[in-house]
Amino acid sequence: MMSRKHHHLRLAIPGALALSLILFACTTVPDAGRSSFNIIPQAHLSQMGLTEFEKIKSQKKLSQNSTQRAAVRSVAERLKPVVPVQNAHWEFVLFEDSAPNAFALPGGKVGVNTGIFKVAHNDAQLAAVIGHELAHVVAGHSGERLSTGLLGAVGAAVIGAAIGGDDTATRNIATGAAGAAVMVGMRSFSRGQELEADRLGALYMARAGYDPRQSVTLWKNFADHTRRQGGSRVPAFLSTHPLDSTRIANLESFMPRALSEYH
Ligand SMILES: [Zn+2]
Repeated sequence: MMSRKHHHLRLAIPGALALSLILFACTTVPDAGRSSFNIIPQAHLSQMGLTEFEKIKSQKKLSQNSTQRAAVRSVAERLKPVVPVQNAHWEFVLFEDSAPNAFALPGGKVGVNTGIFKVAHNDAQLAAVIGHELAHVVAGHSGERLSTGLLGAVGAAVIGAAIGGDDTATRNIATGAAGAAVMVGMRSFSRGQELEADRLGALYMARAGYDPRQSVTLWKNFADHTRRQGGSRVPAFLSTHPLDSTRIANLESFMPRALSEYH
């Protein structure tokens, strides 16, 4: 009986630790009406973003196109006050790259390719792309994916340790589960995160004074662009942002709320 009690105690302590980890790691996503699970400190994520951005800047060619740079600057100035990025050290850079793409990193670092102007035909559509990317940052999507993966790994390790060292088969299952969980955390955004970024992006556009309906037009431009290319080469942006009726329907059903903040 004594050894059985001892066994329970070993299980209870990691359980309590895991619970406090979850309680302290949940933060509210502004405007999204949900809490986000993130065990990686915000300051650490921002630092990772800054380091990564410096690396990208040293590897990619900066654009000298003054018209396009002015467009990025103008959209940046209107988005900055309305997008609640934590620990922001804002920077918007236009890269000479024909691939229609853009990205945002924790810490408020934004990269835009000159190729985006093939699909973003006005400032509002450019704001739609950048707003969407910044929404991933605000909602902590990459940290969230990473955290879920890490918790899975920690959980499996805790179970493995609690079970003890005498059952090789169970230990192998626990180790395998940990590896799989970390891999999931590294992959691109989930469908739910994409739709949330679309909704938040439309809200930011509206608050910055851009017509949020232009976000739907932007997605249609992306589809047209791909069709014109013969559909053979799908832009990187579209491969990580699958365009289908769900995406458009989600944006359109959110439009009344976004429009209520557009003046
Ligand atoms: Zn996205």
